[in-house]
Amino acid sequence: MLEKGKRYLKKLKILRSLKARLFLIILLAGIVPCVIMRMAILQNYEDRAVNVRIADVQNQFKILANHLITYGYLHDTSSEVVNTELEQLSNVYDGRVLIIDQNFKVIKDTYGISEGKTVISEEVIRCFQGSSTTNYDSGNGYIEITTPIAGSSAEKESGVLEDGTEKLAEGVLLTSVSTDSITMTLELLDRRALIVELIVLAFIVALAFVMANLVTAPFERITQAINDVKEGFNDEQISVNDYVETEHIVDAFNQLLGRMKALDDSRQEFVSNVSHELKTPLTSMKVLADSLMMQEEAPIELYQEFMTDIANEIERENKIINDLLSLVKMDKKAADMNIVQIDINELLELILKRLRPIARKQNIEVIYESMRPVTAEVDEVKLTLALSNLVENAIKYNKPKGWVKVFLDADHQFFTVEVSDSGIGIPEDAMEHIYERFYRVDKSHSREIGGTGLGLAITRNAVLMHRGSIRAESKEGEGTTFTVKIPLIHPVG
Ligand code: ADP
Repeated sequence: MLEKGKRYLKKLKILRSLKARLFLIILLAGIVPCVIMRMAILQNYEDRAVNVRIADVQNQFKILANHLITYGYLHDTSSEVVNTELEQLSNVYDGRVLIIDQNFKVIKDTYGISEGKTVISEEVIRCFQGSSTTNYDSGNGYIEITTPIAGSSAEKESGVLEDGTEKLAEGVLLTSVSTDSITMTLELLDRRALIVELIVLAFIVALAFVMANLVTAPFERITQAINDVKEGFNDEQISVNDYVETEHIVDAFNQLLGRMKALDDSRQEFVSNVSHELKTPLTSMKVLADSLMMQEEAPIELYQEFMTDIANEIERENKIINDLLSLVKMDKKAADMNIVQIDINELLELILKRLRPIARKQNIEVIYESMRPVTAEVDEVKLTLALSNLVENAIKYNKPKGWVKVFLDADHQFFTVEVSDSGIGIPEDAMEHIYERFYRVDKSHSREIGGTGLGLAITRNAVLMHRGSIRAESKEGEGTTFTVKIPLIHPVG
């Protein structure tokens, strides 16, 4: 049972191959008409040959029927002339002739077997009614023909048949002629046609094989090209332009390749950035520790100062690692979202409550304005992180005595949070890079105020995971506004 199933699957797999299907289609398209044509021609020949034979025999026997009347053969079968004629005809047509009189009695049989017997058959009765009948038996190889023996109407001896119809003939000539010669010619023709057919078959098989290979070759070239790329990961674009279809496949593949390359590049860049960022605090710590060790009997104050610096570097390292972990969490799939219905006003007030002390330290005023109560389906942790980053940045990159304004509004589909500040602003050429990981407009300034360059990347990812959008507007020296727009109901799927 299992074996059978396996074999069936194997068979199916062959049929699923485009090459095999093309081969079969071409083969069938070539062979079927060939076979039909052979059969039609042979059938046609057979029909024609039988018809010609029937017409020929009927003619001859009509003449014979006339002679039979003339010589009164139905009453006296001793006529030498007629007997010779009968003999000749049965020889020529390789057949048997029976002459049946009005009483359905056989008065003459060229085979001499049935004389005196009675023959009542449908054909004979129909013939007595005046119509000659023919019956071709291809299986046994003979044609049976009946010919009415009827003189002029004056001489006719009328009679009545069993079914009441009038007998129009005085007798019936029942002839069987052999069709052996026709069968022999047919066989000969068939054999020749078969040979021709076999030659054509061989030709078509070869043609189908070549065509199937030619037609499917571009697809194999695509597979080969993709394999080459896969193995070597060479970044060359592949090109197989034989068909529009292959062009489409190759285009799609090249686009995929482009994306993979971009991803690979960004991954490499990310790894090198991460290593660099993590190495910087370590290098500082090593320098600090080395210089302490090199000094013999260094004063305790120096130790304290250097140790504070080392602790700061450790804190920075910690912050980078924490940010990286948040980013990795954001990179996960939407399935990891913990969506709940949340009061956004409350959420924002909580964030601001946490950040106000930092702002106060720098003499920055934080203003919150809400147009309406808003509740939405969000992931509380992720959204808090996203919005905190924006407000934190607005405070960090502000001017002394500046302000930060958080504004909340909603329509029937989305809620919008606007975080604007009176800060240093972002130069225009930096705008397109601010969401990149580790990007900082002013590296040293950002480092000073404890930036890692990951905050906006985290924010953007969190917003996108909520199927929302983020937009930034900024004027250098005047301030920046970030606008986040998020659906009130989290779209499923
Ligand atoms: P960082 O940890 O350095 O703040 P972010 O990803 O949060 O990293 O921000 C990237 C860069 O964008 C910052 O280094 C800063 O130069 C700039 N930036 C972000 N927000 C503001 C803002 N509100 N005002 C001015 N510059 C900003």
